[in-house]
Amino acid sequence: MRKEVPRVTSIRRLSRIFKKIHEERDRKNGRTGTKRGKENERRLVASFEQYQGTLPSWFFAIYPATQEEDESGADAVIDTQDVGRLYLQVKSSQSGVRKFYKRRRKKMIGVIVISDKQSNDDIVHVALSILESLRAKLLERRTASLEEEGKMATCKTCNGAGVNETGNNNLPCDDCPAGDTALFNIAEVEGLVTGAEVRRHFLNSSPEPITFRWPPIHAEDLPGRKK
Ligand SMILES: [Zn+2]
Repeated sequence: MRKEVPRVTSIRRLSRIFKKIHEERDRKNGRTGTKRGKENERRLVASFEQYQGTLPSWFFAIYPATQEEDESGADAVIDTQDVGRLYLQVKSSQSGVRKFYKRRRKKMIGVIVISDKQSNDDIVHVALSILESLRAKLLERRTASLEEEGKMATCKTCNGAGVNETGNNNLPCDDCPAGDTALFNIAEVEGLVTGAEVRRHFLNSSPEPITFRWPPIHAEDLPGRKK
């Protein structure tokens, strides 16, 4: 016996039905994709929080990107001592990485692929090596542009990083302009301060000294800093 098949009244109606099915499927895929992406972003930051090894001295902090930073392609923000902020975008697959590099706008964004199989330490090691190479490129570029302006041959004291590592302390370099803009962690201050601010407030000969205090003052409240 022939089975009753519902009559399709028109091609137009049929294509509407298919369109609905496809939309629903895309919506579901999109949603699981985003959910997994968010989880990997959290995992990246959490891996650093749980990391017991030694982090390089230029590494200050990692935190999740703000909505605005997210829109410009960053999932995590990394504060560094000498090259300012670096950004990481988290992907779950290599194909995502290729797509990202094709339309990347900012040069200080690196891409990290995170899979479920990786341990937290693996993730930190991979992230650090990506950040190292971003940092090296930025230092190189900065040195090149300073040389172009004739301001400086590469500084022998700090290698262009702006930080004079004395062994005991990291001090702002006094021998080149990068010393003013390098960033530092100071116990008395919440947030990062520039080399120029270190000289102004926190060295023995500082003209406007800020003495140790608790709770720390916020970097935004340093005298002379723009609000
Ligand atoms: Zn220097």
